Amino acid sequence: MRYRRFGKTNLSLSVFSLGTMRYLASEATAAQTVNRAIALGINHLETAKGYGKSEQYLGQALAQLTVPRSQLYITTKISPTPDAASMARQLDQSLADLGTDYVDCLAIHGLNTEEHLSWVKAKQGCMQAVQQAVADGRVRHIGFSTHGSLELILAAIATGLFEFVSLHYYYFFQHNAPAVAAAAAKDMGVFIISPADKGGQLYTPPQKLQELCAPLSPLLFNYRFLLSDPRITTLSVGAANETELDWPLSVADVDGPLDVAETEVLQRLQTHQTATLKSEQCSQCYDCLPCPEAIQIPEVLRLRNLAIAYDMTNFGQYRYRMFENAGHWFPGVKANRCTDCGDCLPKCPEQLNIPALLQDAHERLNGPSGRRLWG
Ligand code: SF4
Ligand code: SF4
Repeated sequence: MRYRRFGKTNLSLSVFSLGTMRYLASEATAAQTVNRAIALGINHLETAKGYGKSEQYLGQALAQLTVPRSQLYITTKISPTPDAASMARQLDQSLADLGTDYVDCLAIHGLNTEEHLSWVKAKQGCMQAVQQAVADGRVRHIGFSTHGSLELILAAIATGLFEFVSLHYYYFFQHNAPAVAAAAAKDMGVFIISPADKGGQLYTPPQKLQELCAPLSPLLFNYRFLLSDPRITTLSVGAANETELDWPLSVADVDGPLDVAETEVLQRLQTHQTATLKSEQCSQCYDCLPCPEAIQIPEVLRLRNLAIAYDMTNFGQYRYRMFENAGHWFPGVKANRCTDCGDCLPKCPEQLNIPALLQDAHERLNGPSGRRLWG
């Protein structure tokens, strides 16, 4: 296992972190997963108030460990609140559930909207309670996790309130690259959320993607893509049980830039996408936003790109069906809401027929609804 400095926190974190949102089958499963993670060299355990019994199970597992608490780093996450008092109450409950006097890192969980950012910046807002907890030693370092827009993430980083950020950034979703750069420029730690699942459901890749990534697996290629970037500190592994840790961690000792074979995979993926999508490829410039109907055009067309180029239709459907169903965690409406107003057309440097591509994406990704709309 390699370890990297988590930005200005100066914590030395394992390049893989145990995310504890999926080990919830039982207290015993959680304890076995934690034990195995630590045996494999993971020293960073990440949980959240919103993950059901995750904090309690982690607290019970920690109580049984022989490893000193000082050698483990615990992050928990609490959703932003407009006031300090409710944040203070939730933090006390988290510490009680975790059975610890302090957490190494506390992240504002899901800083996703302008309203959340205003709560964070407000003098009497949730950060007052967080900063009090830092002053009295219950919290050592402060960060935020986000599913928000790039603009929002950059604005949150620019507040200077945070020492680390947890965000989405993968080979198949590189739009947040400027946020990684901005975080690095502020010497913040960078934690990558869910590179296996949100990164493309890479535990179950389609055959075509497997062939393009050979001799690597798509999952390990994505891990190597991320870990070849020294600005990235650690990747979340959301293992449901102890056996799910072995495969991801097979690249935990590989450091440095992509080697020749890995670089060939990267080039092959790029070439294949361009050749397959031809003049229908969305280049992910985001220039077409905003759409008056709140369609997240680039994200819809990213999922279409992936479905057509790499057969990642299951992943595309999984994400697409979250539109209109996941609130601020996945904003935007489905592509069939396009009114053909034409506002986006002159803004697209690729001169794409956006309404037609959105319609096609909807038919591919909305899934079976009685009649099958695509072959
Ligand atoms: S044409 Fe459709 S996608 Fe484009 S701006 Fe209008 S409603 Fe939005
Ligand atoms: S402007 Fe065109 S290329 Fe850019 S994100 Fe929108 S649809 Fe894609």
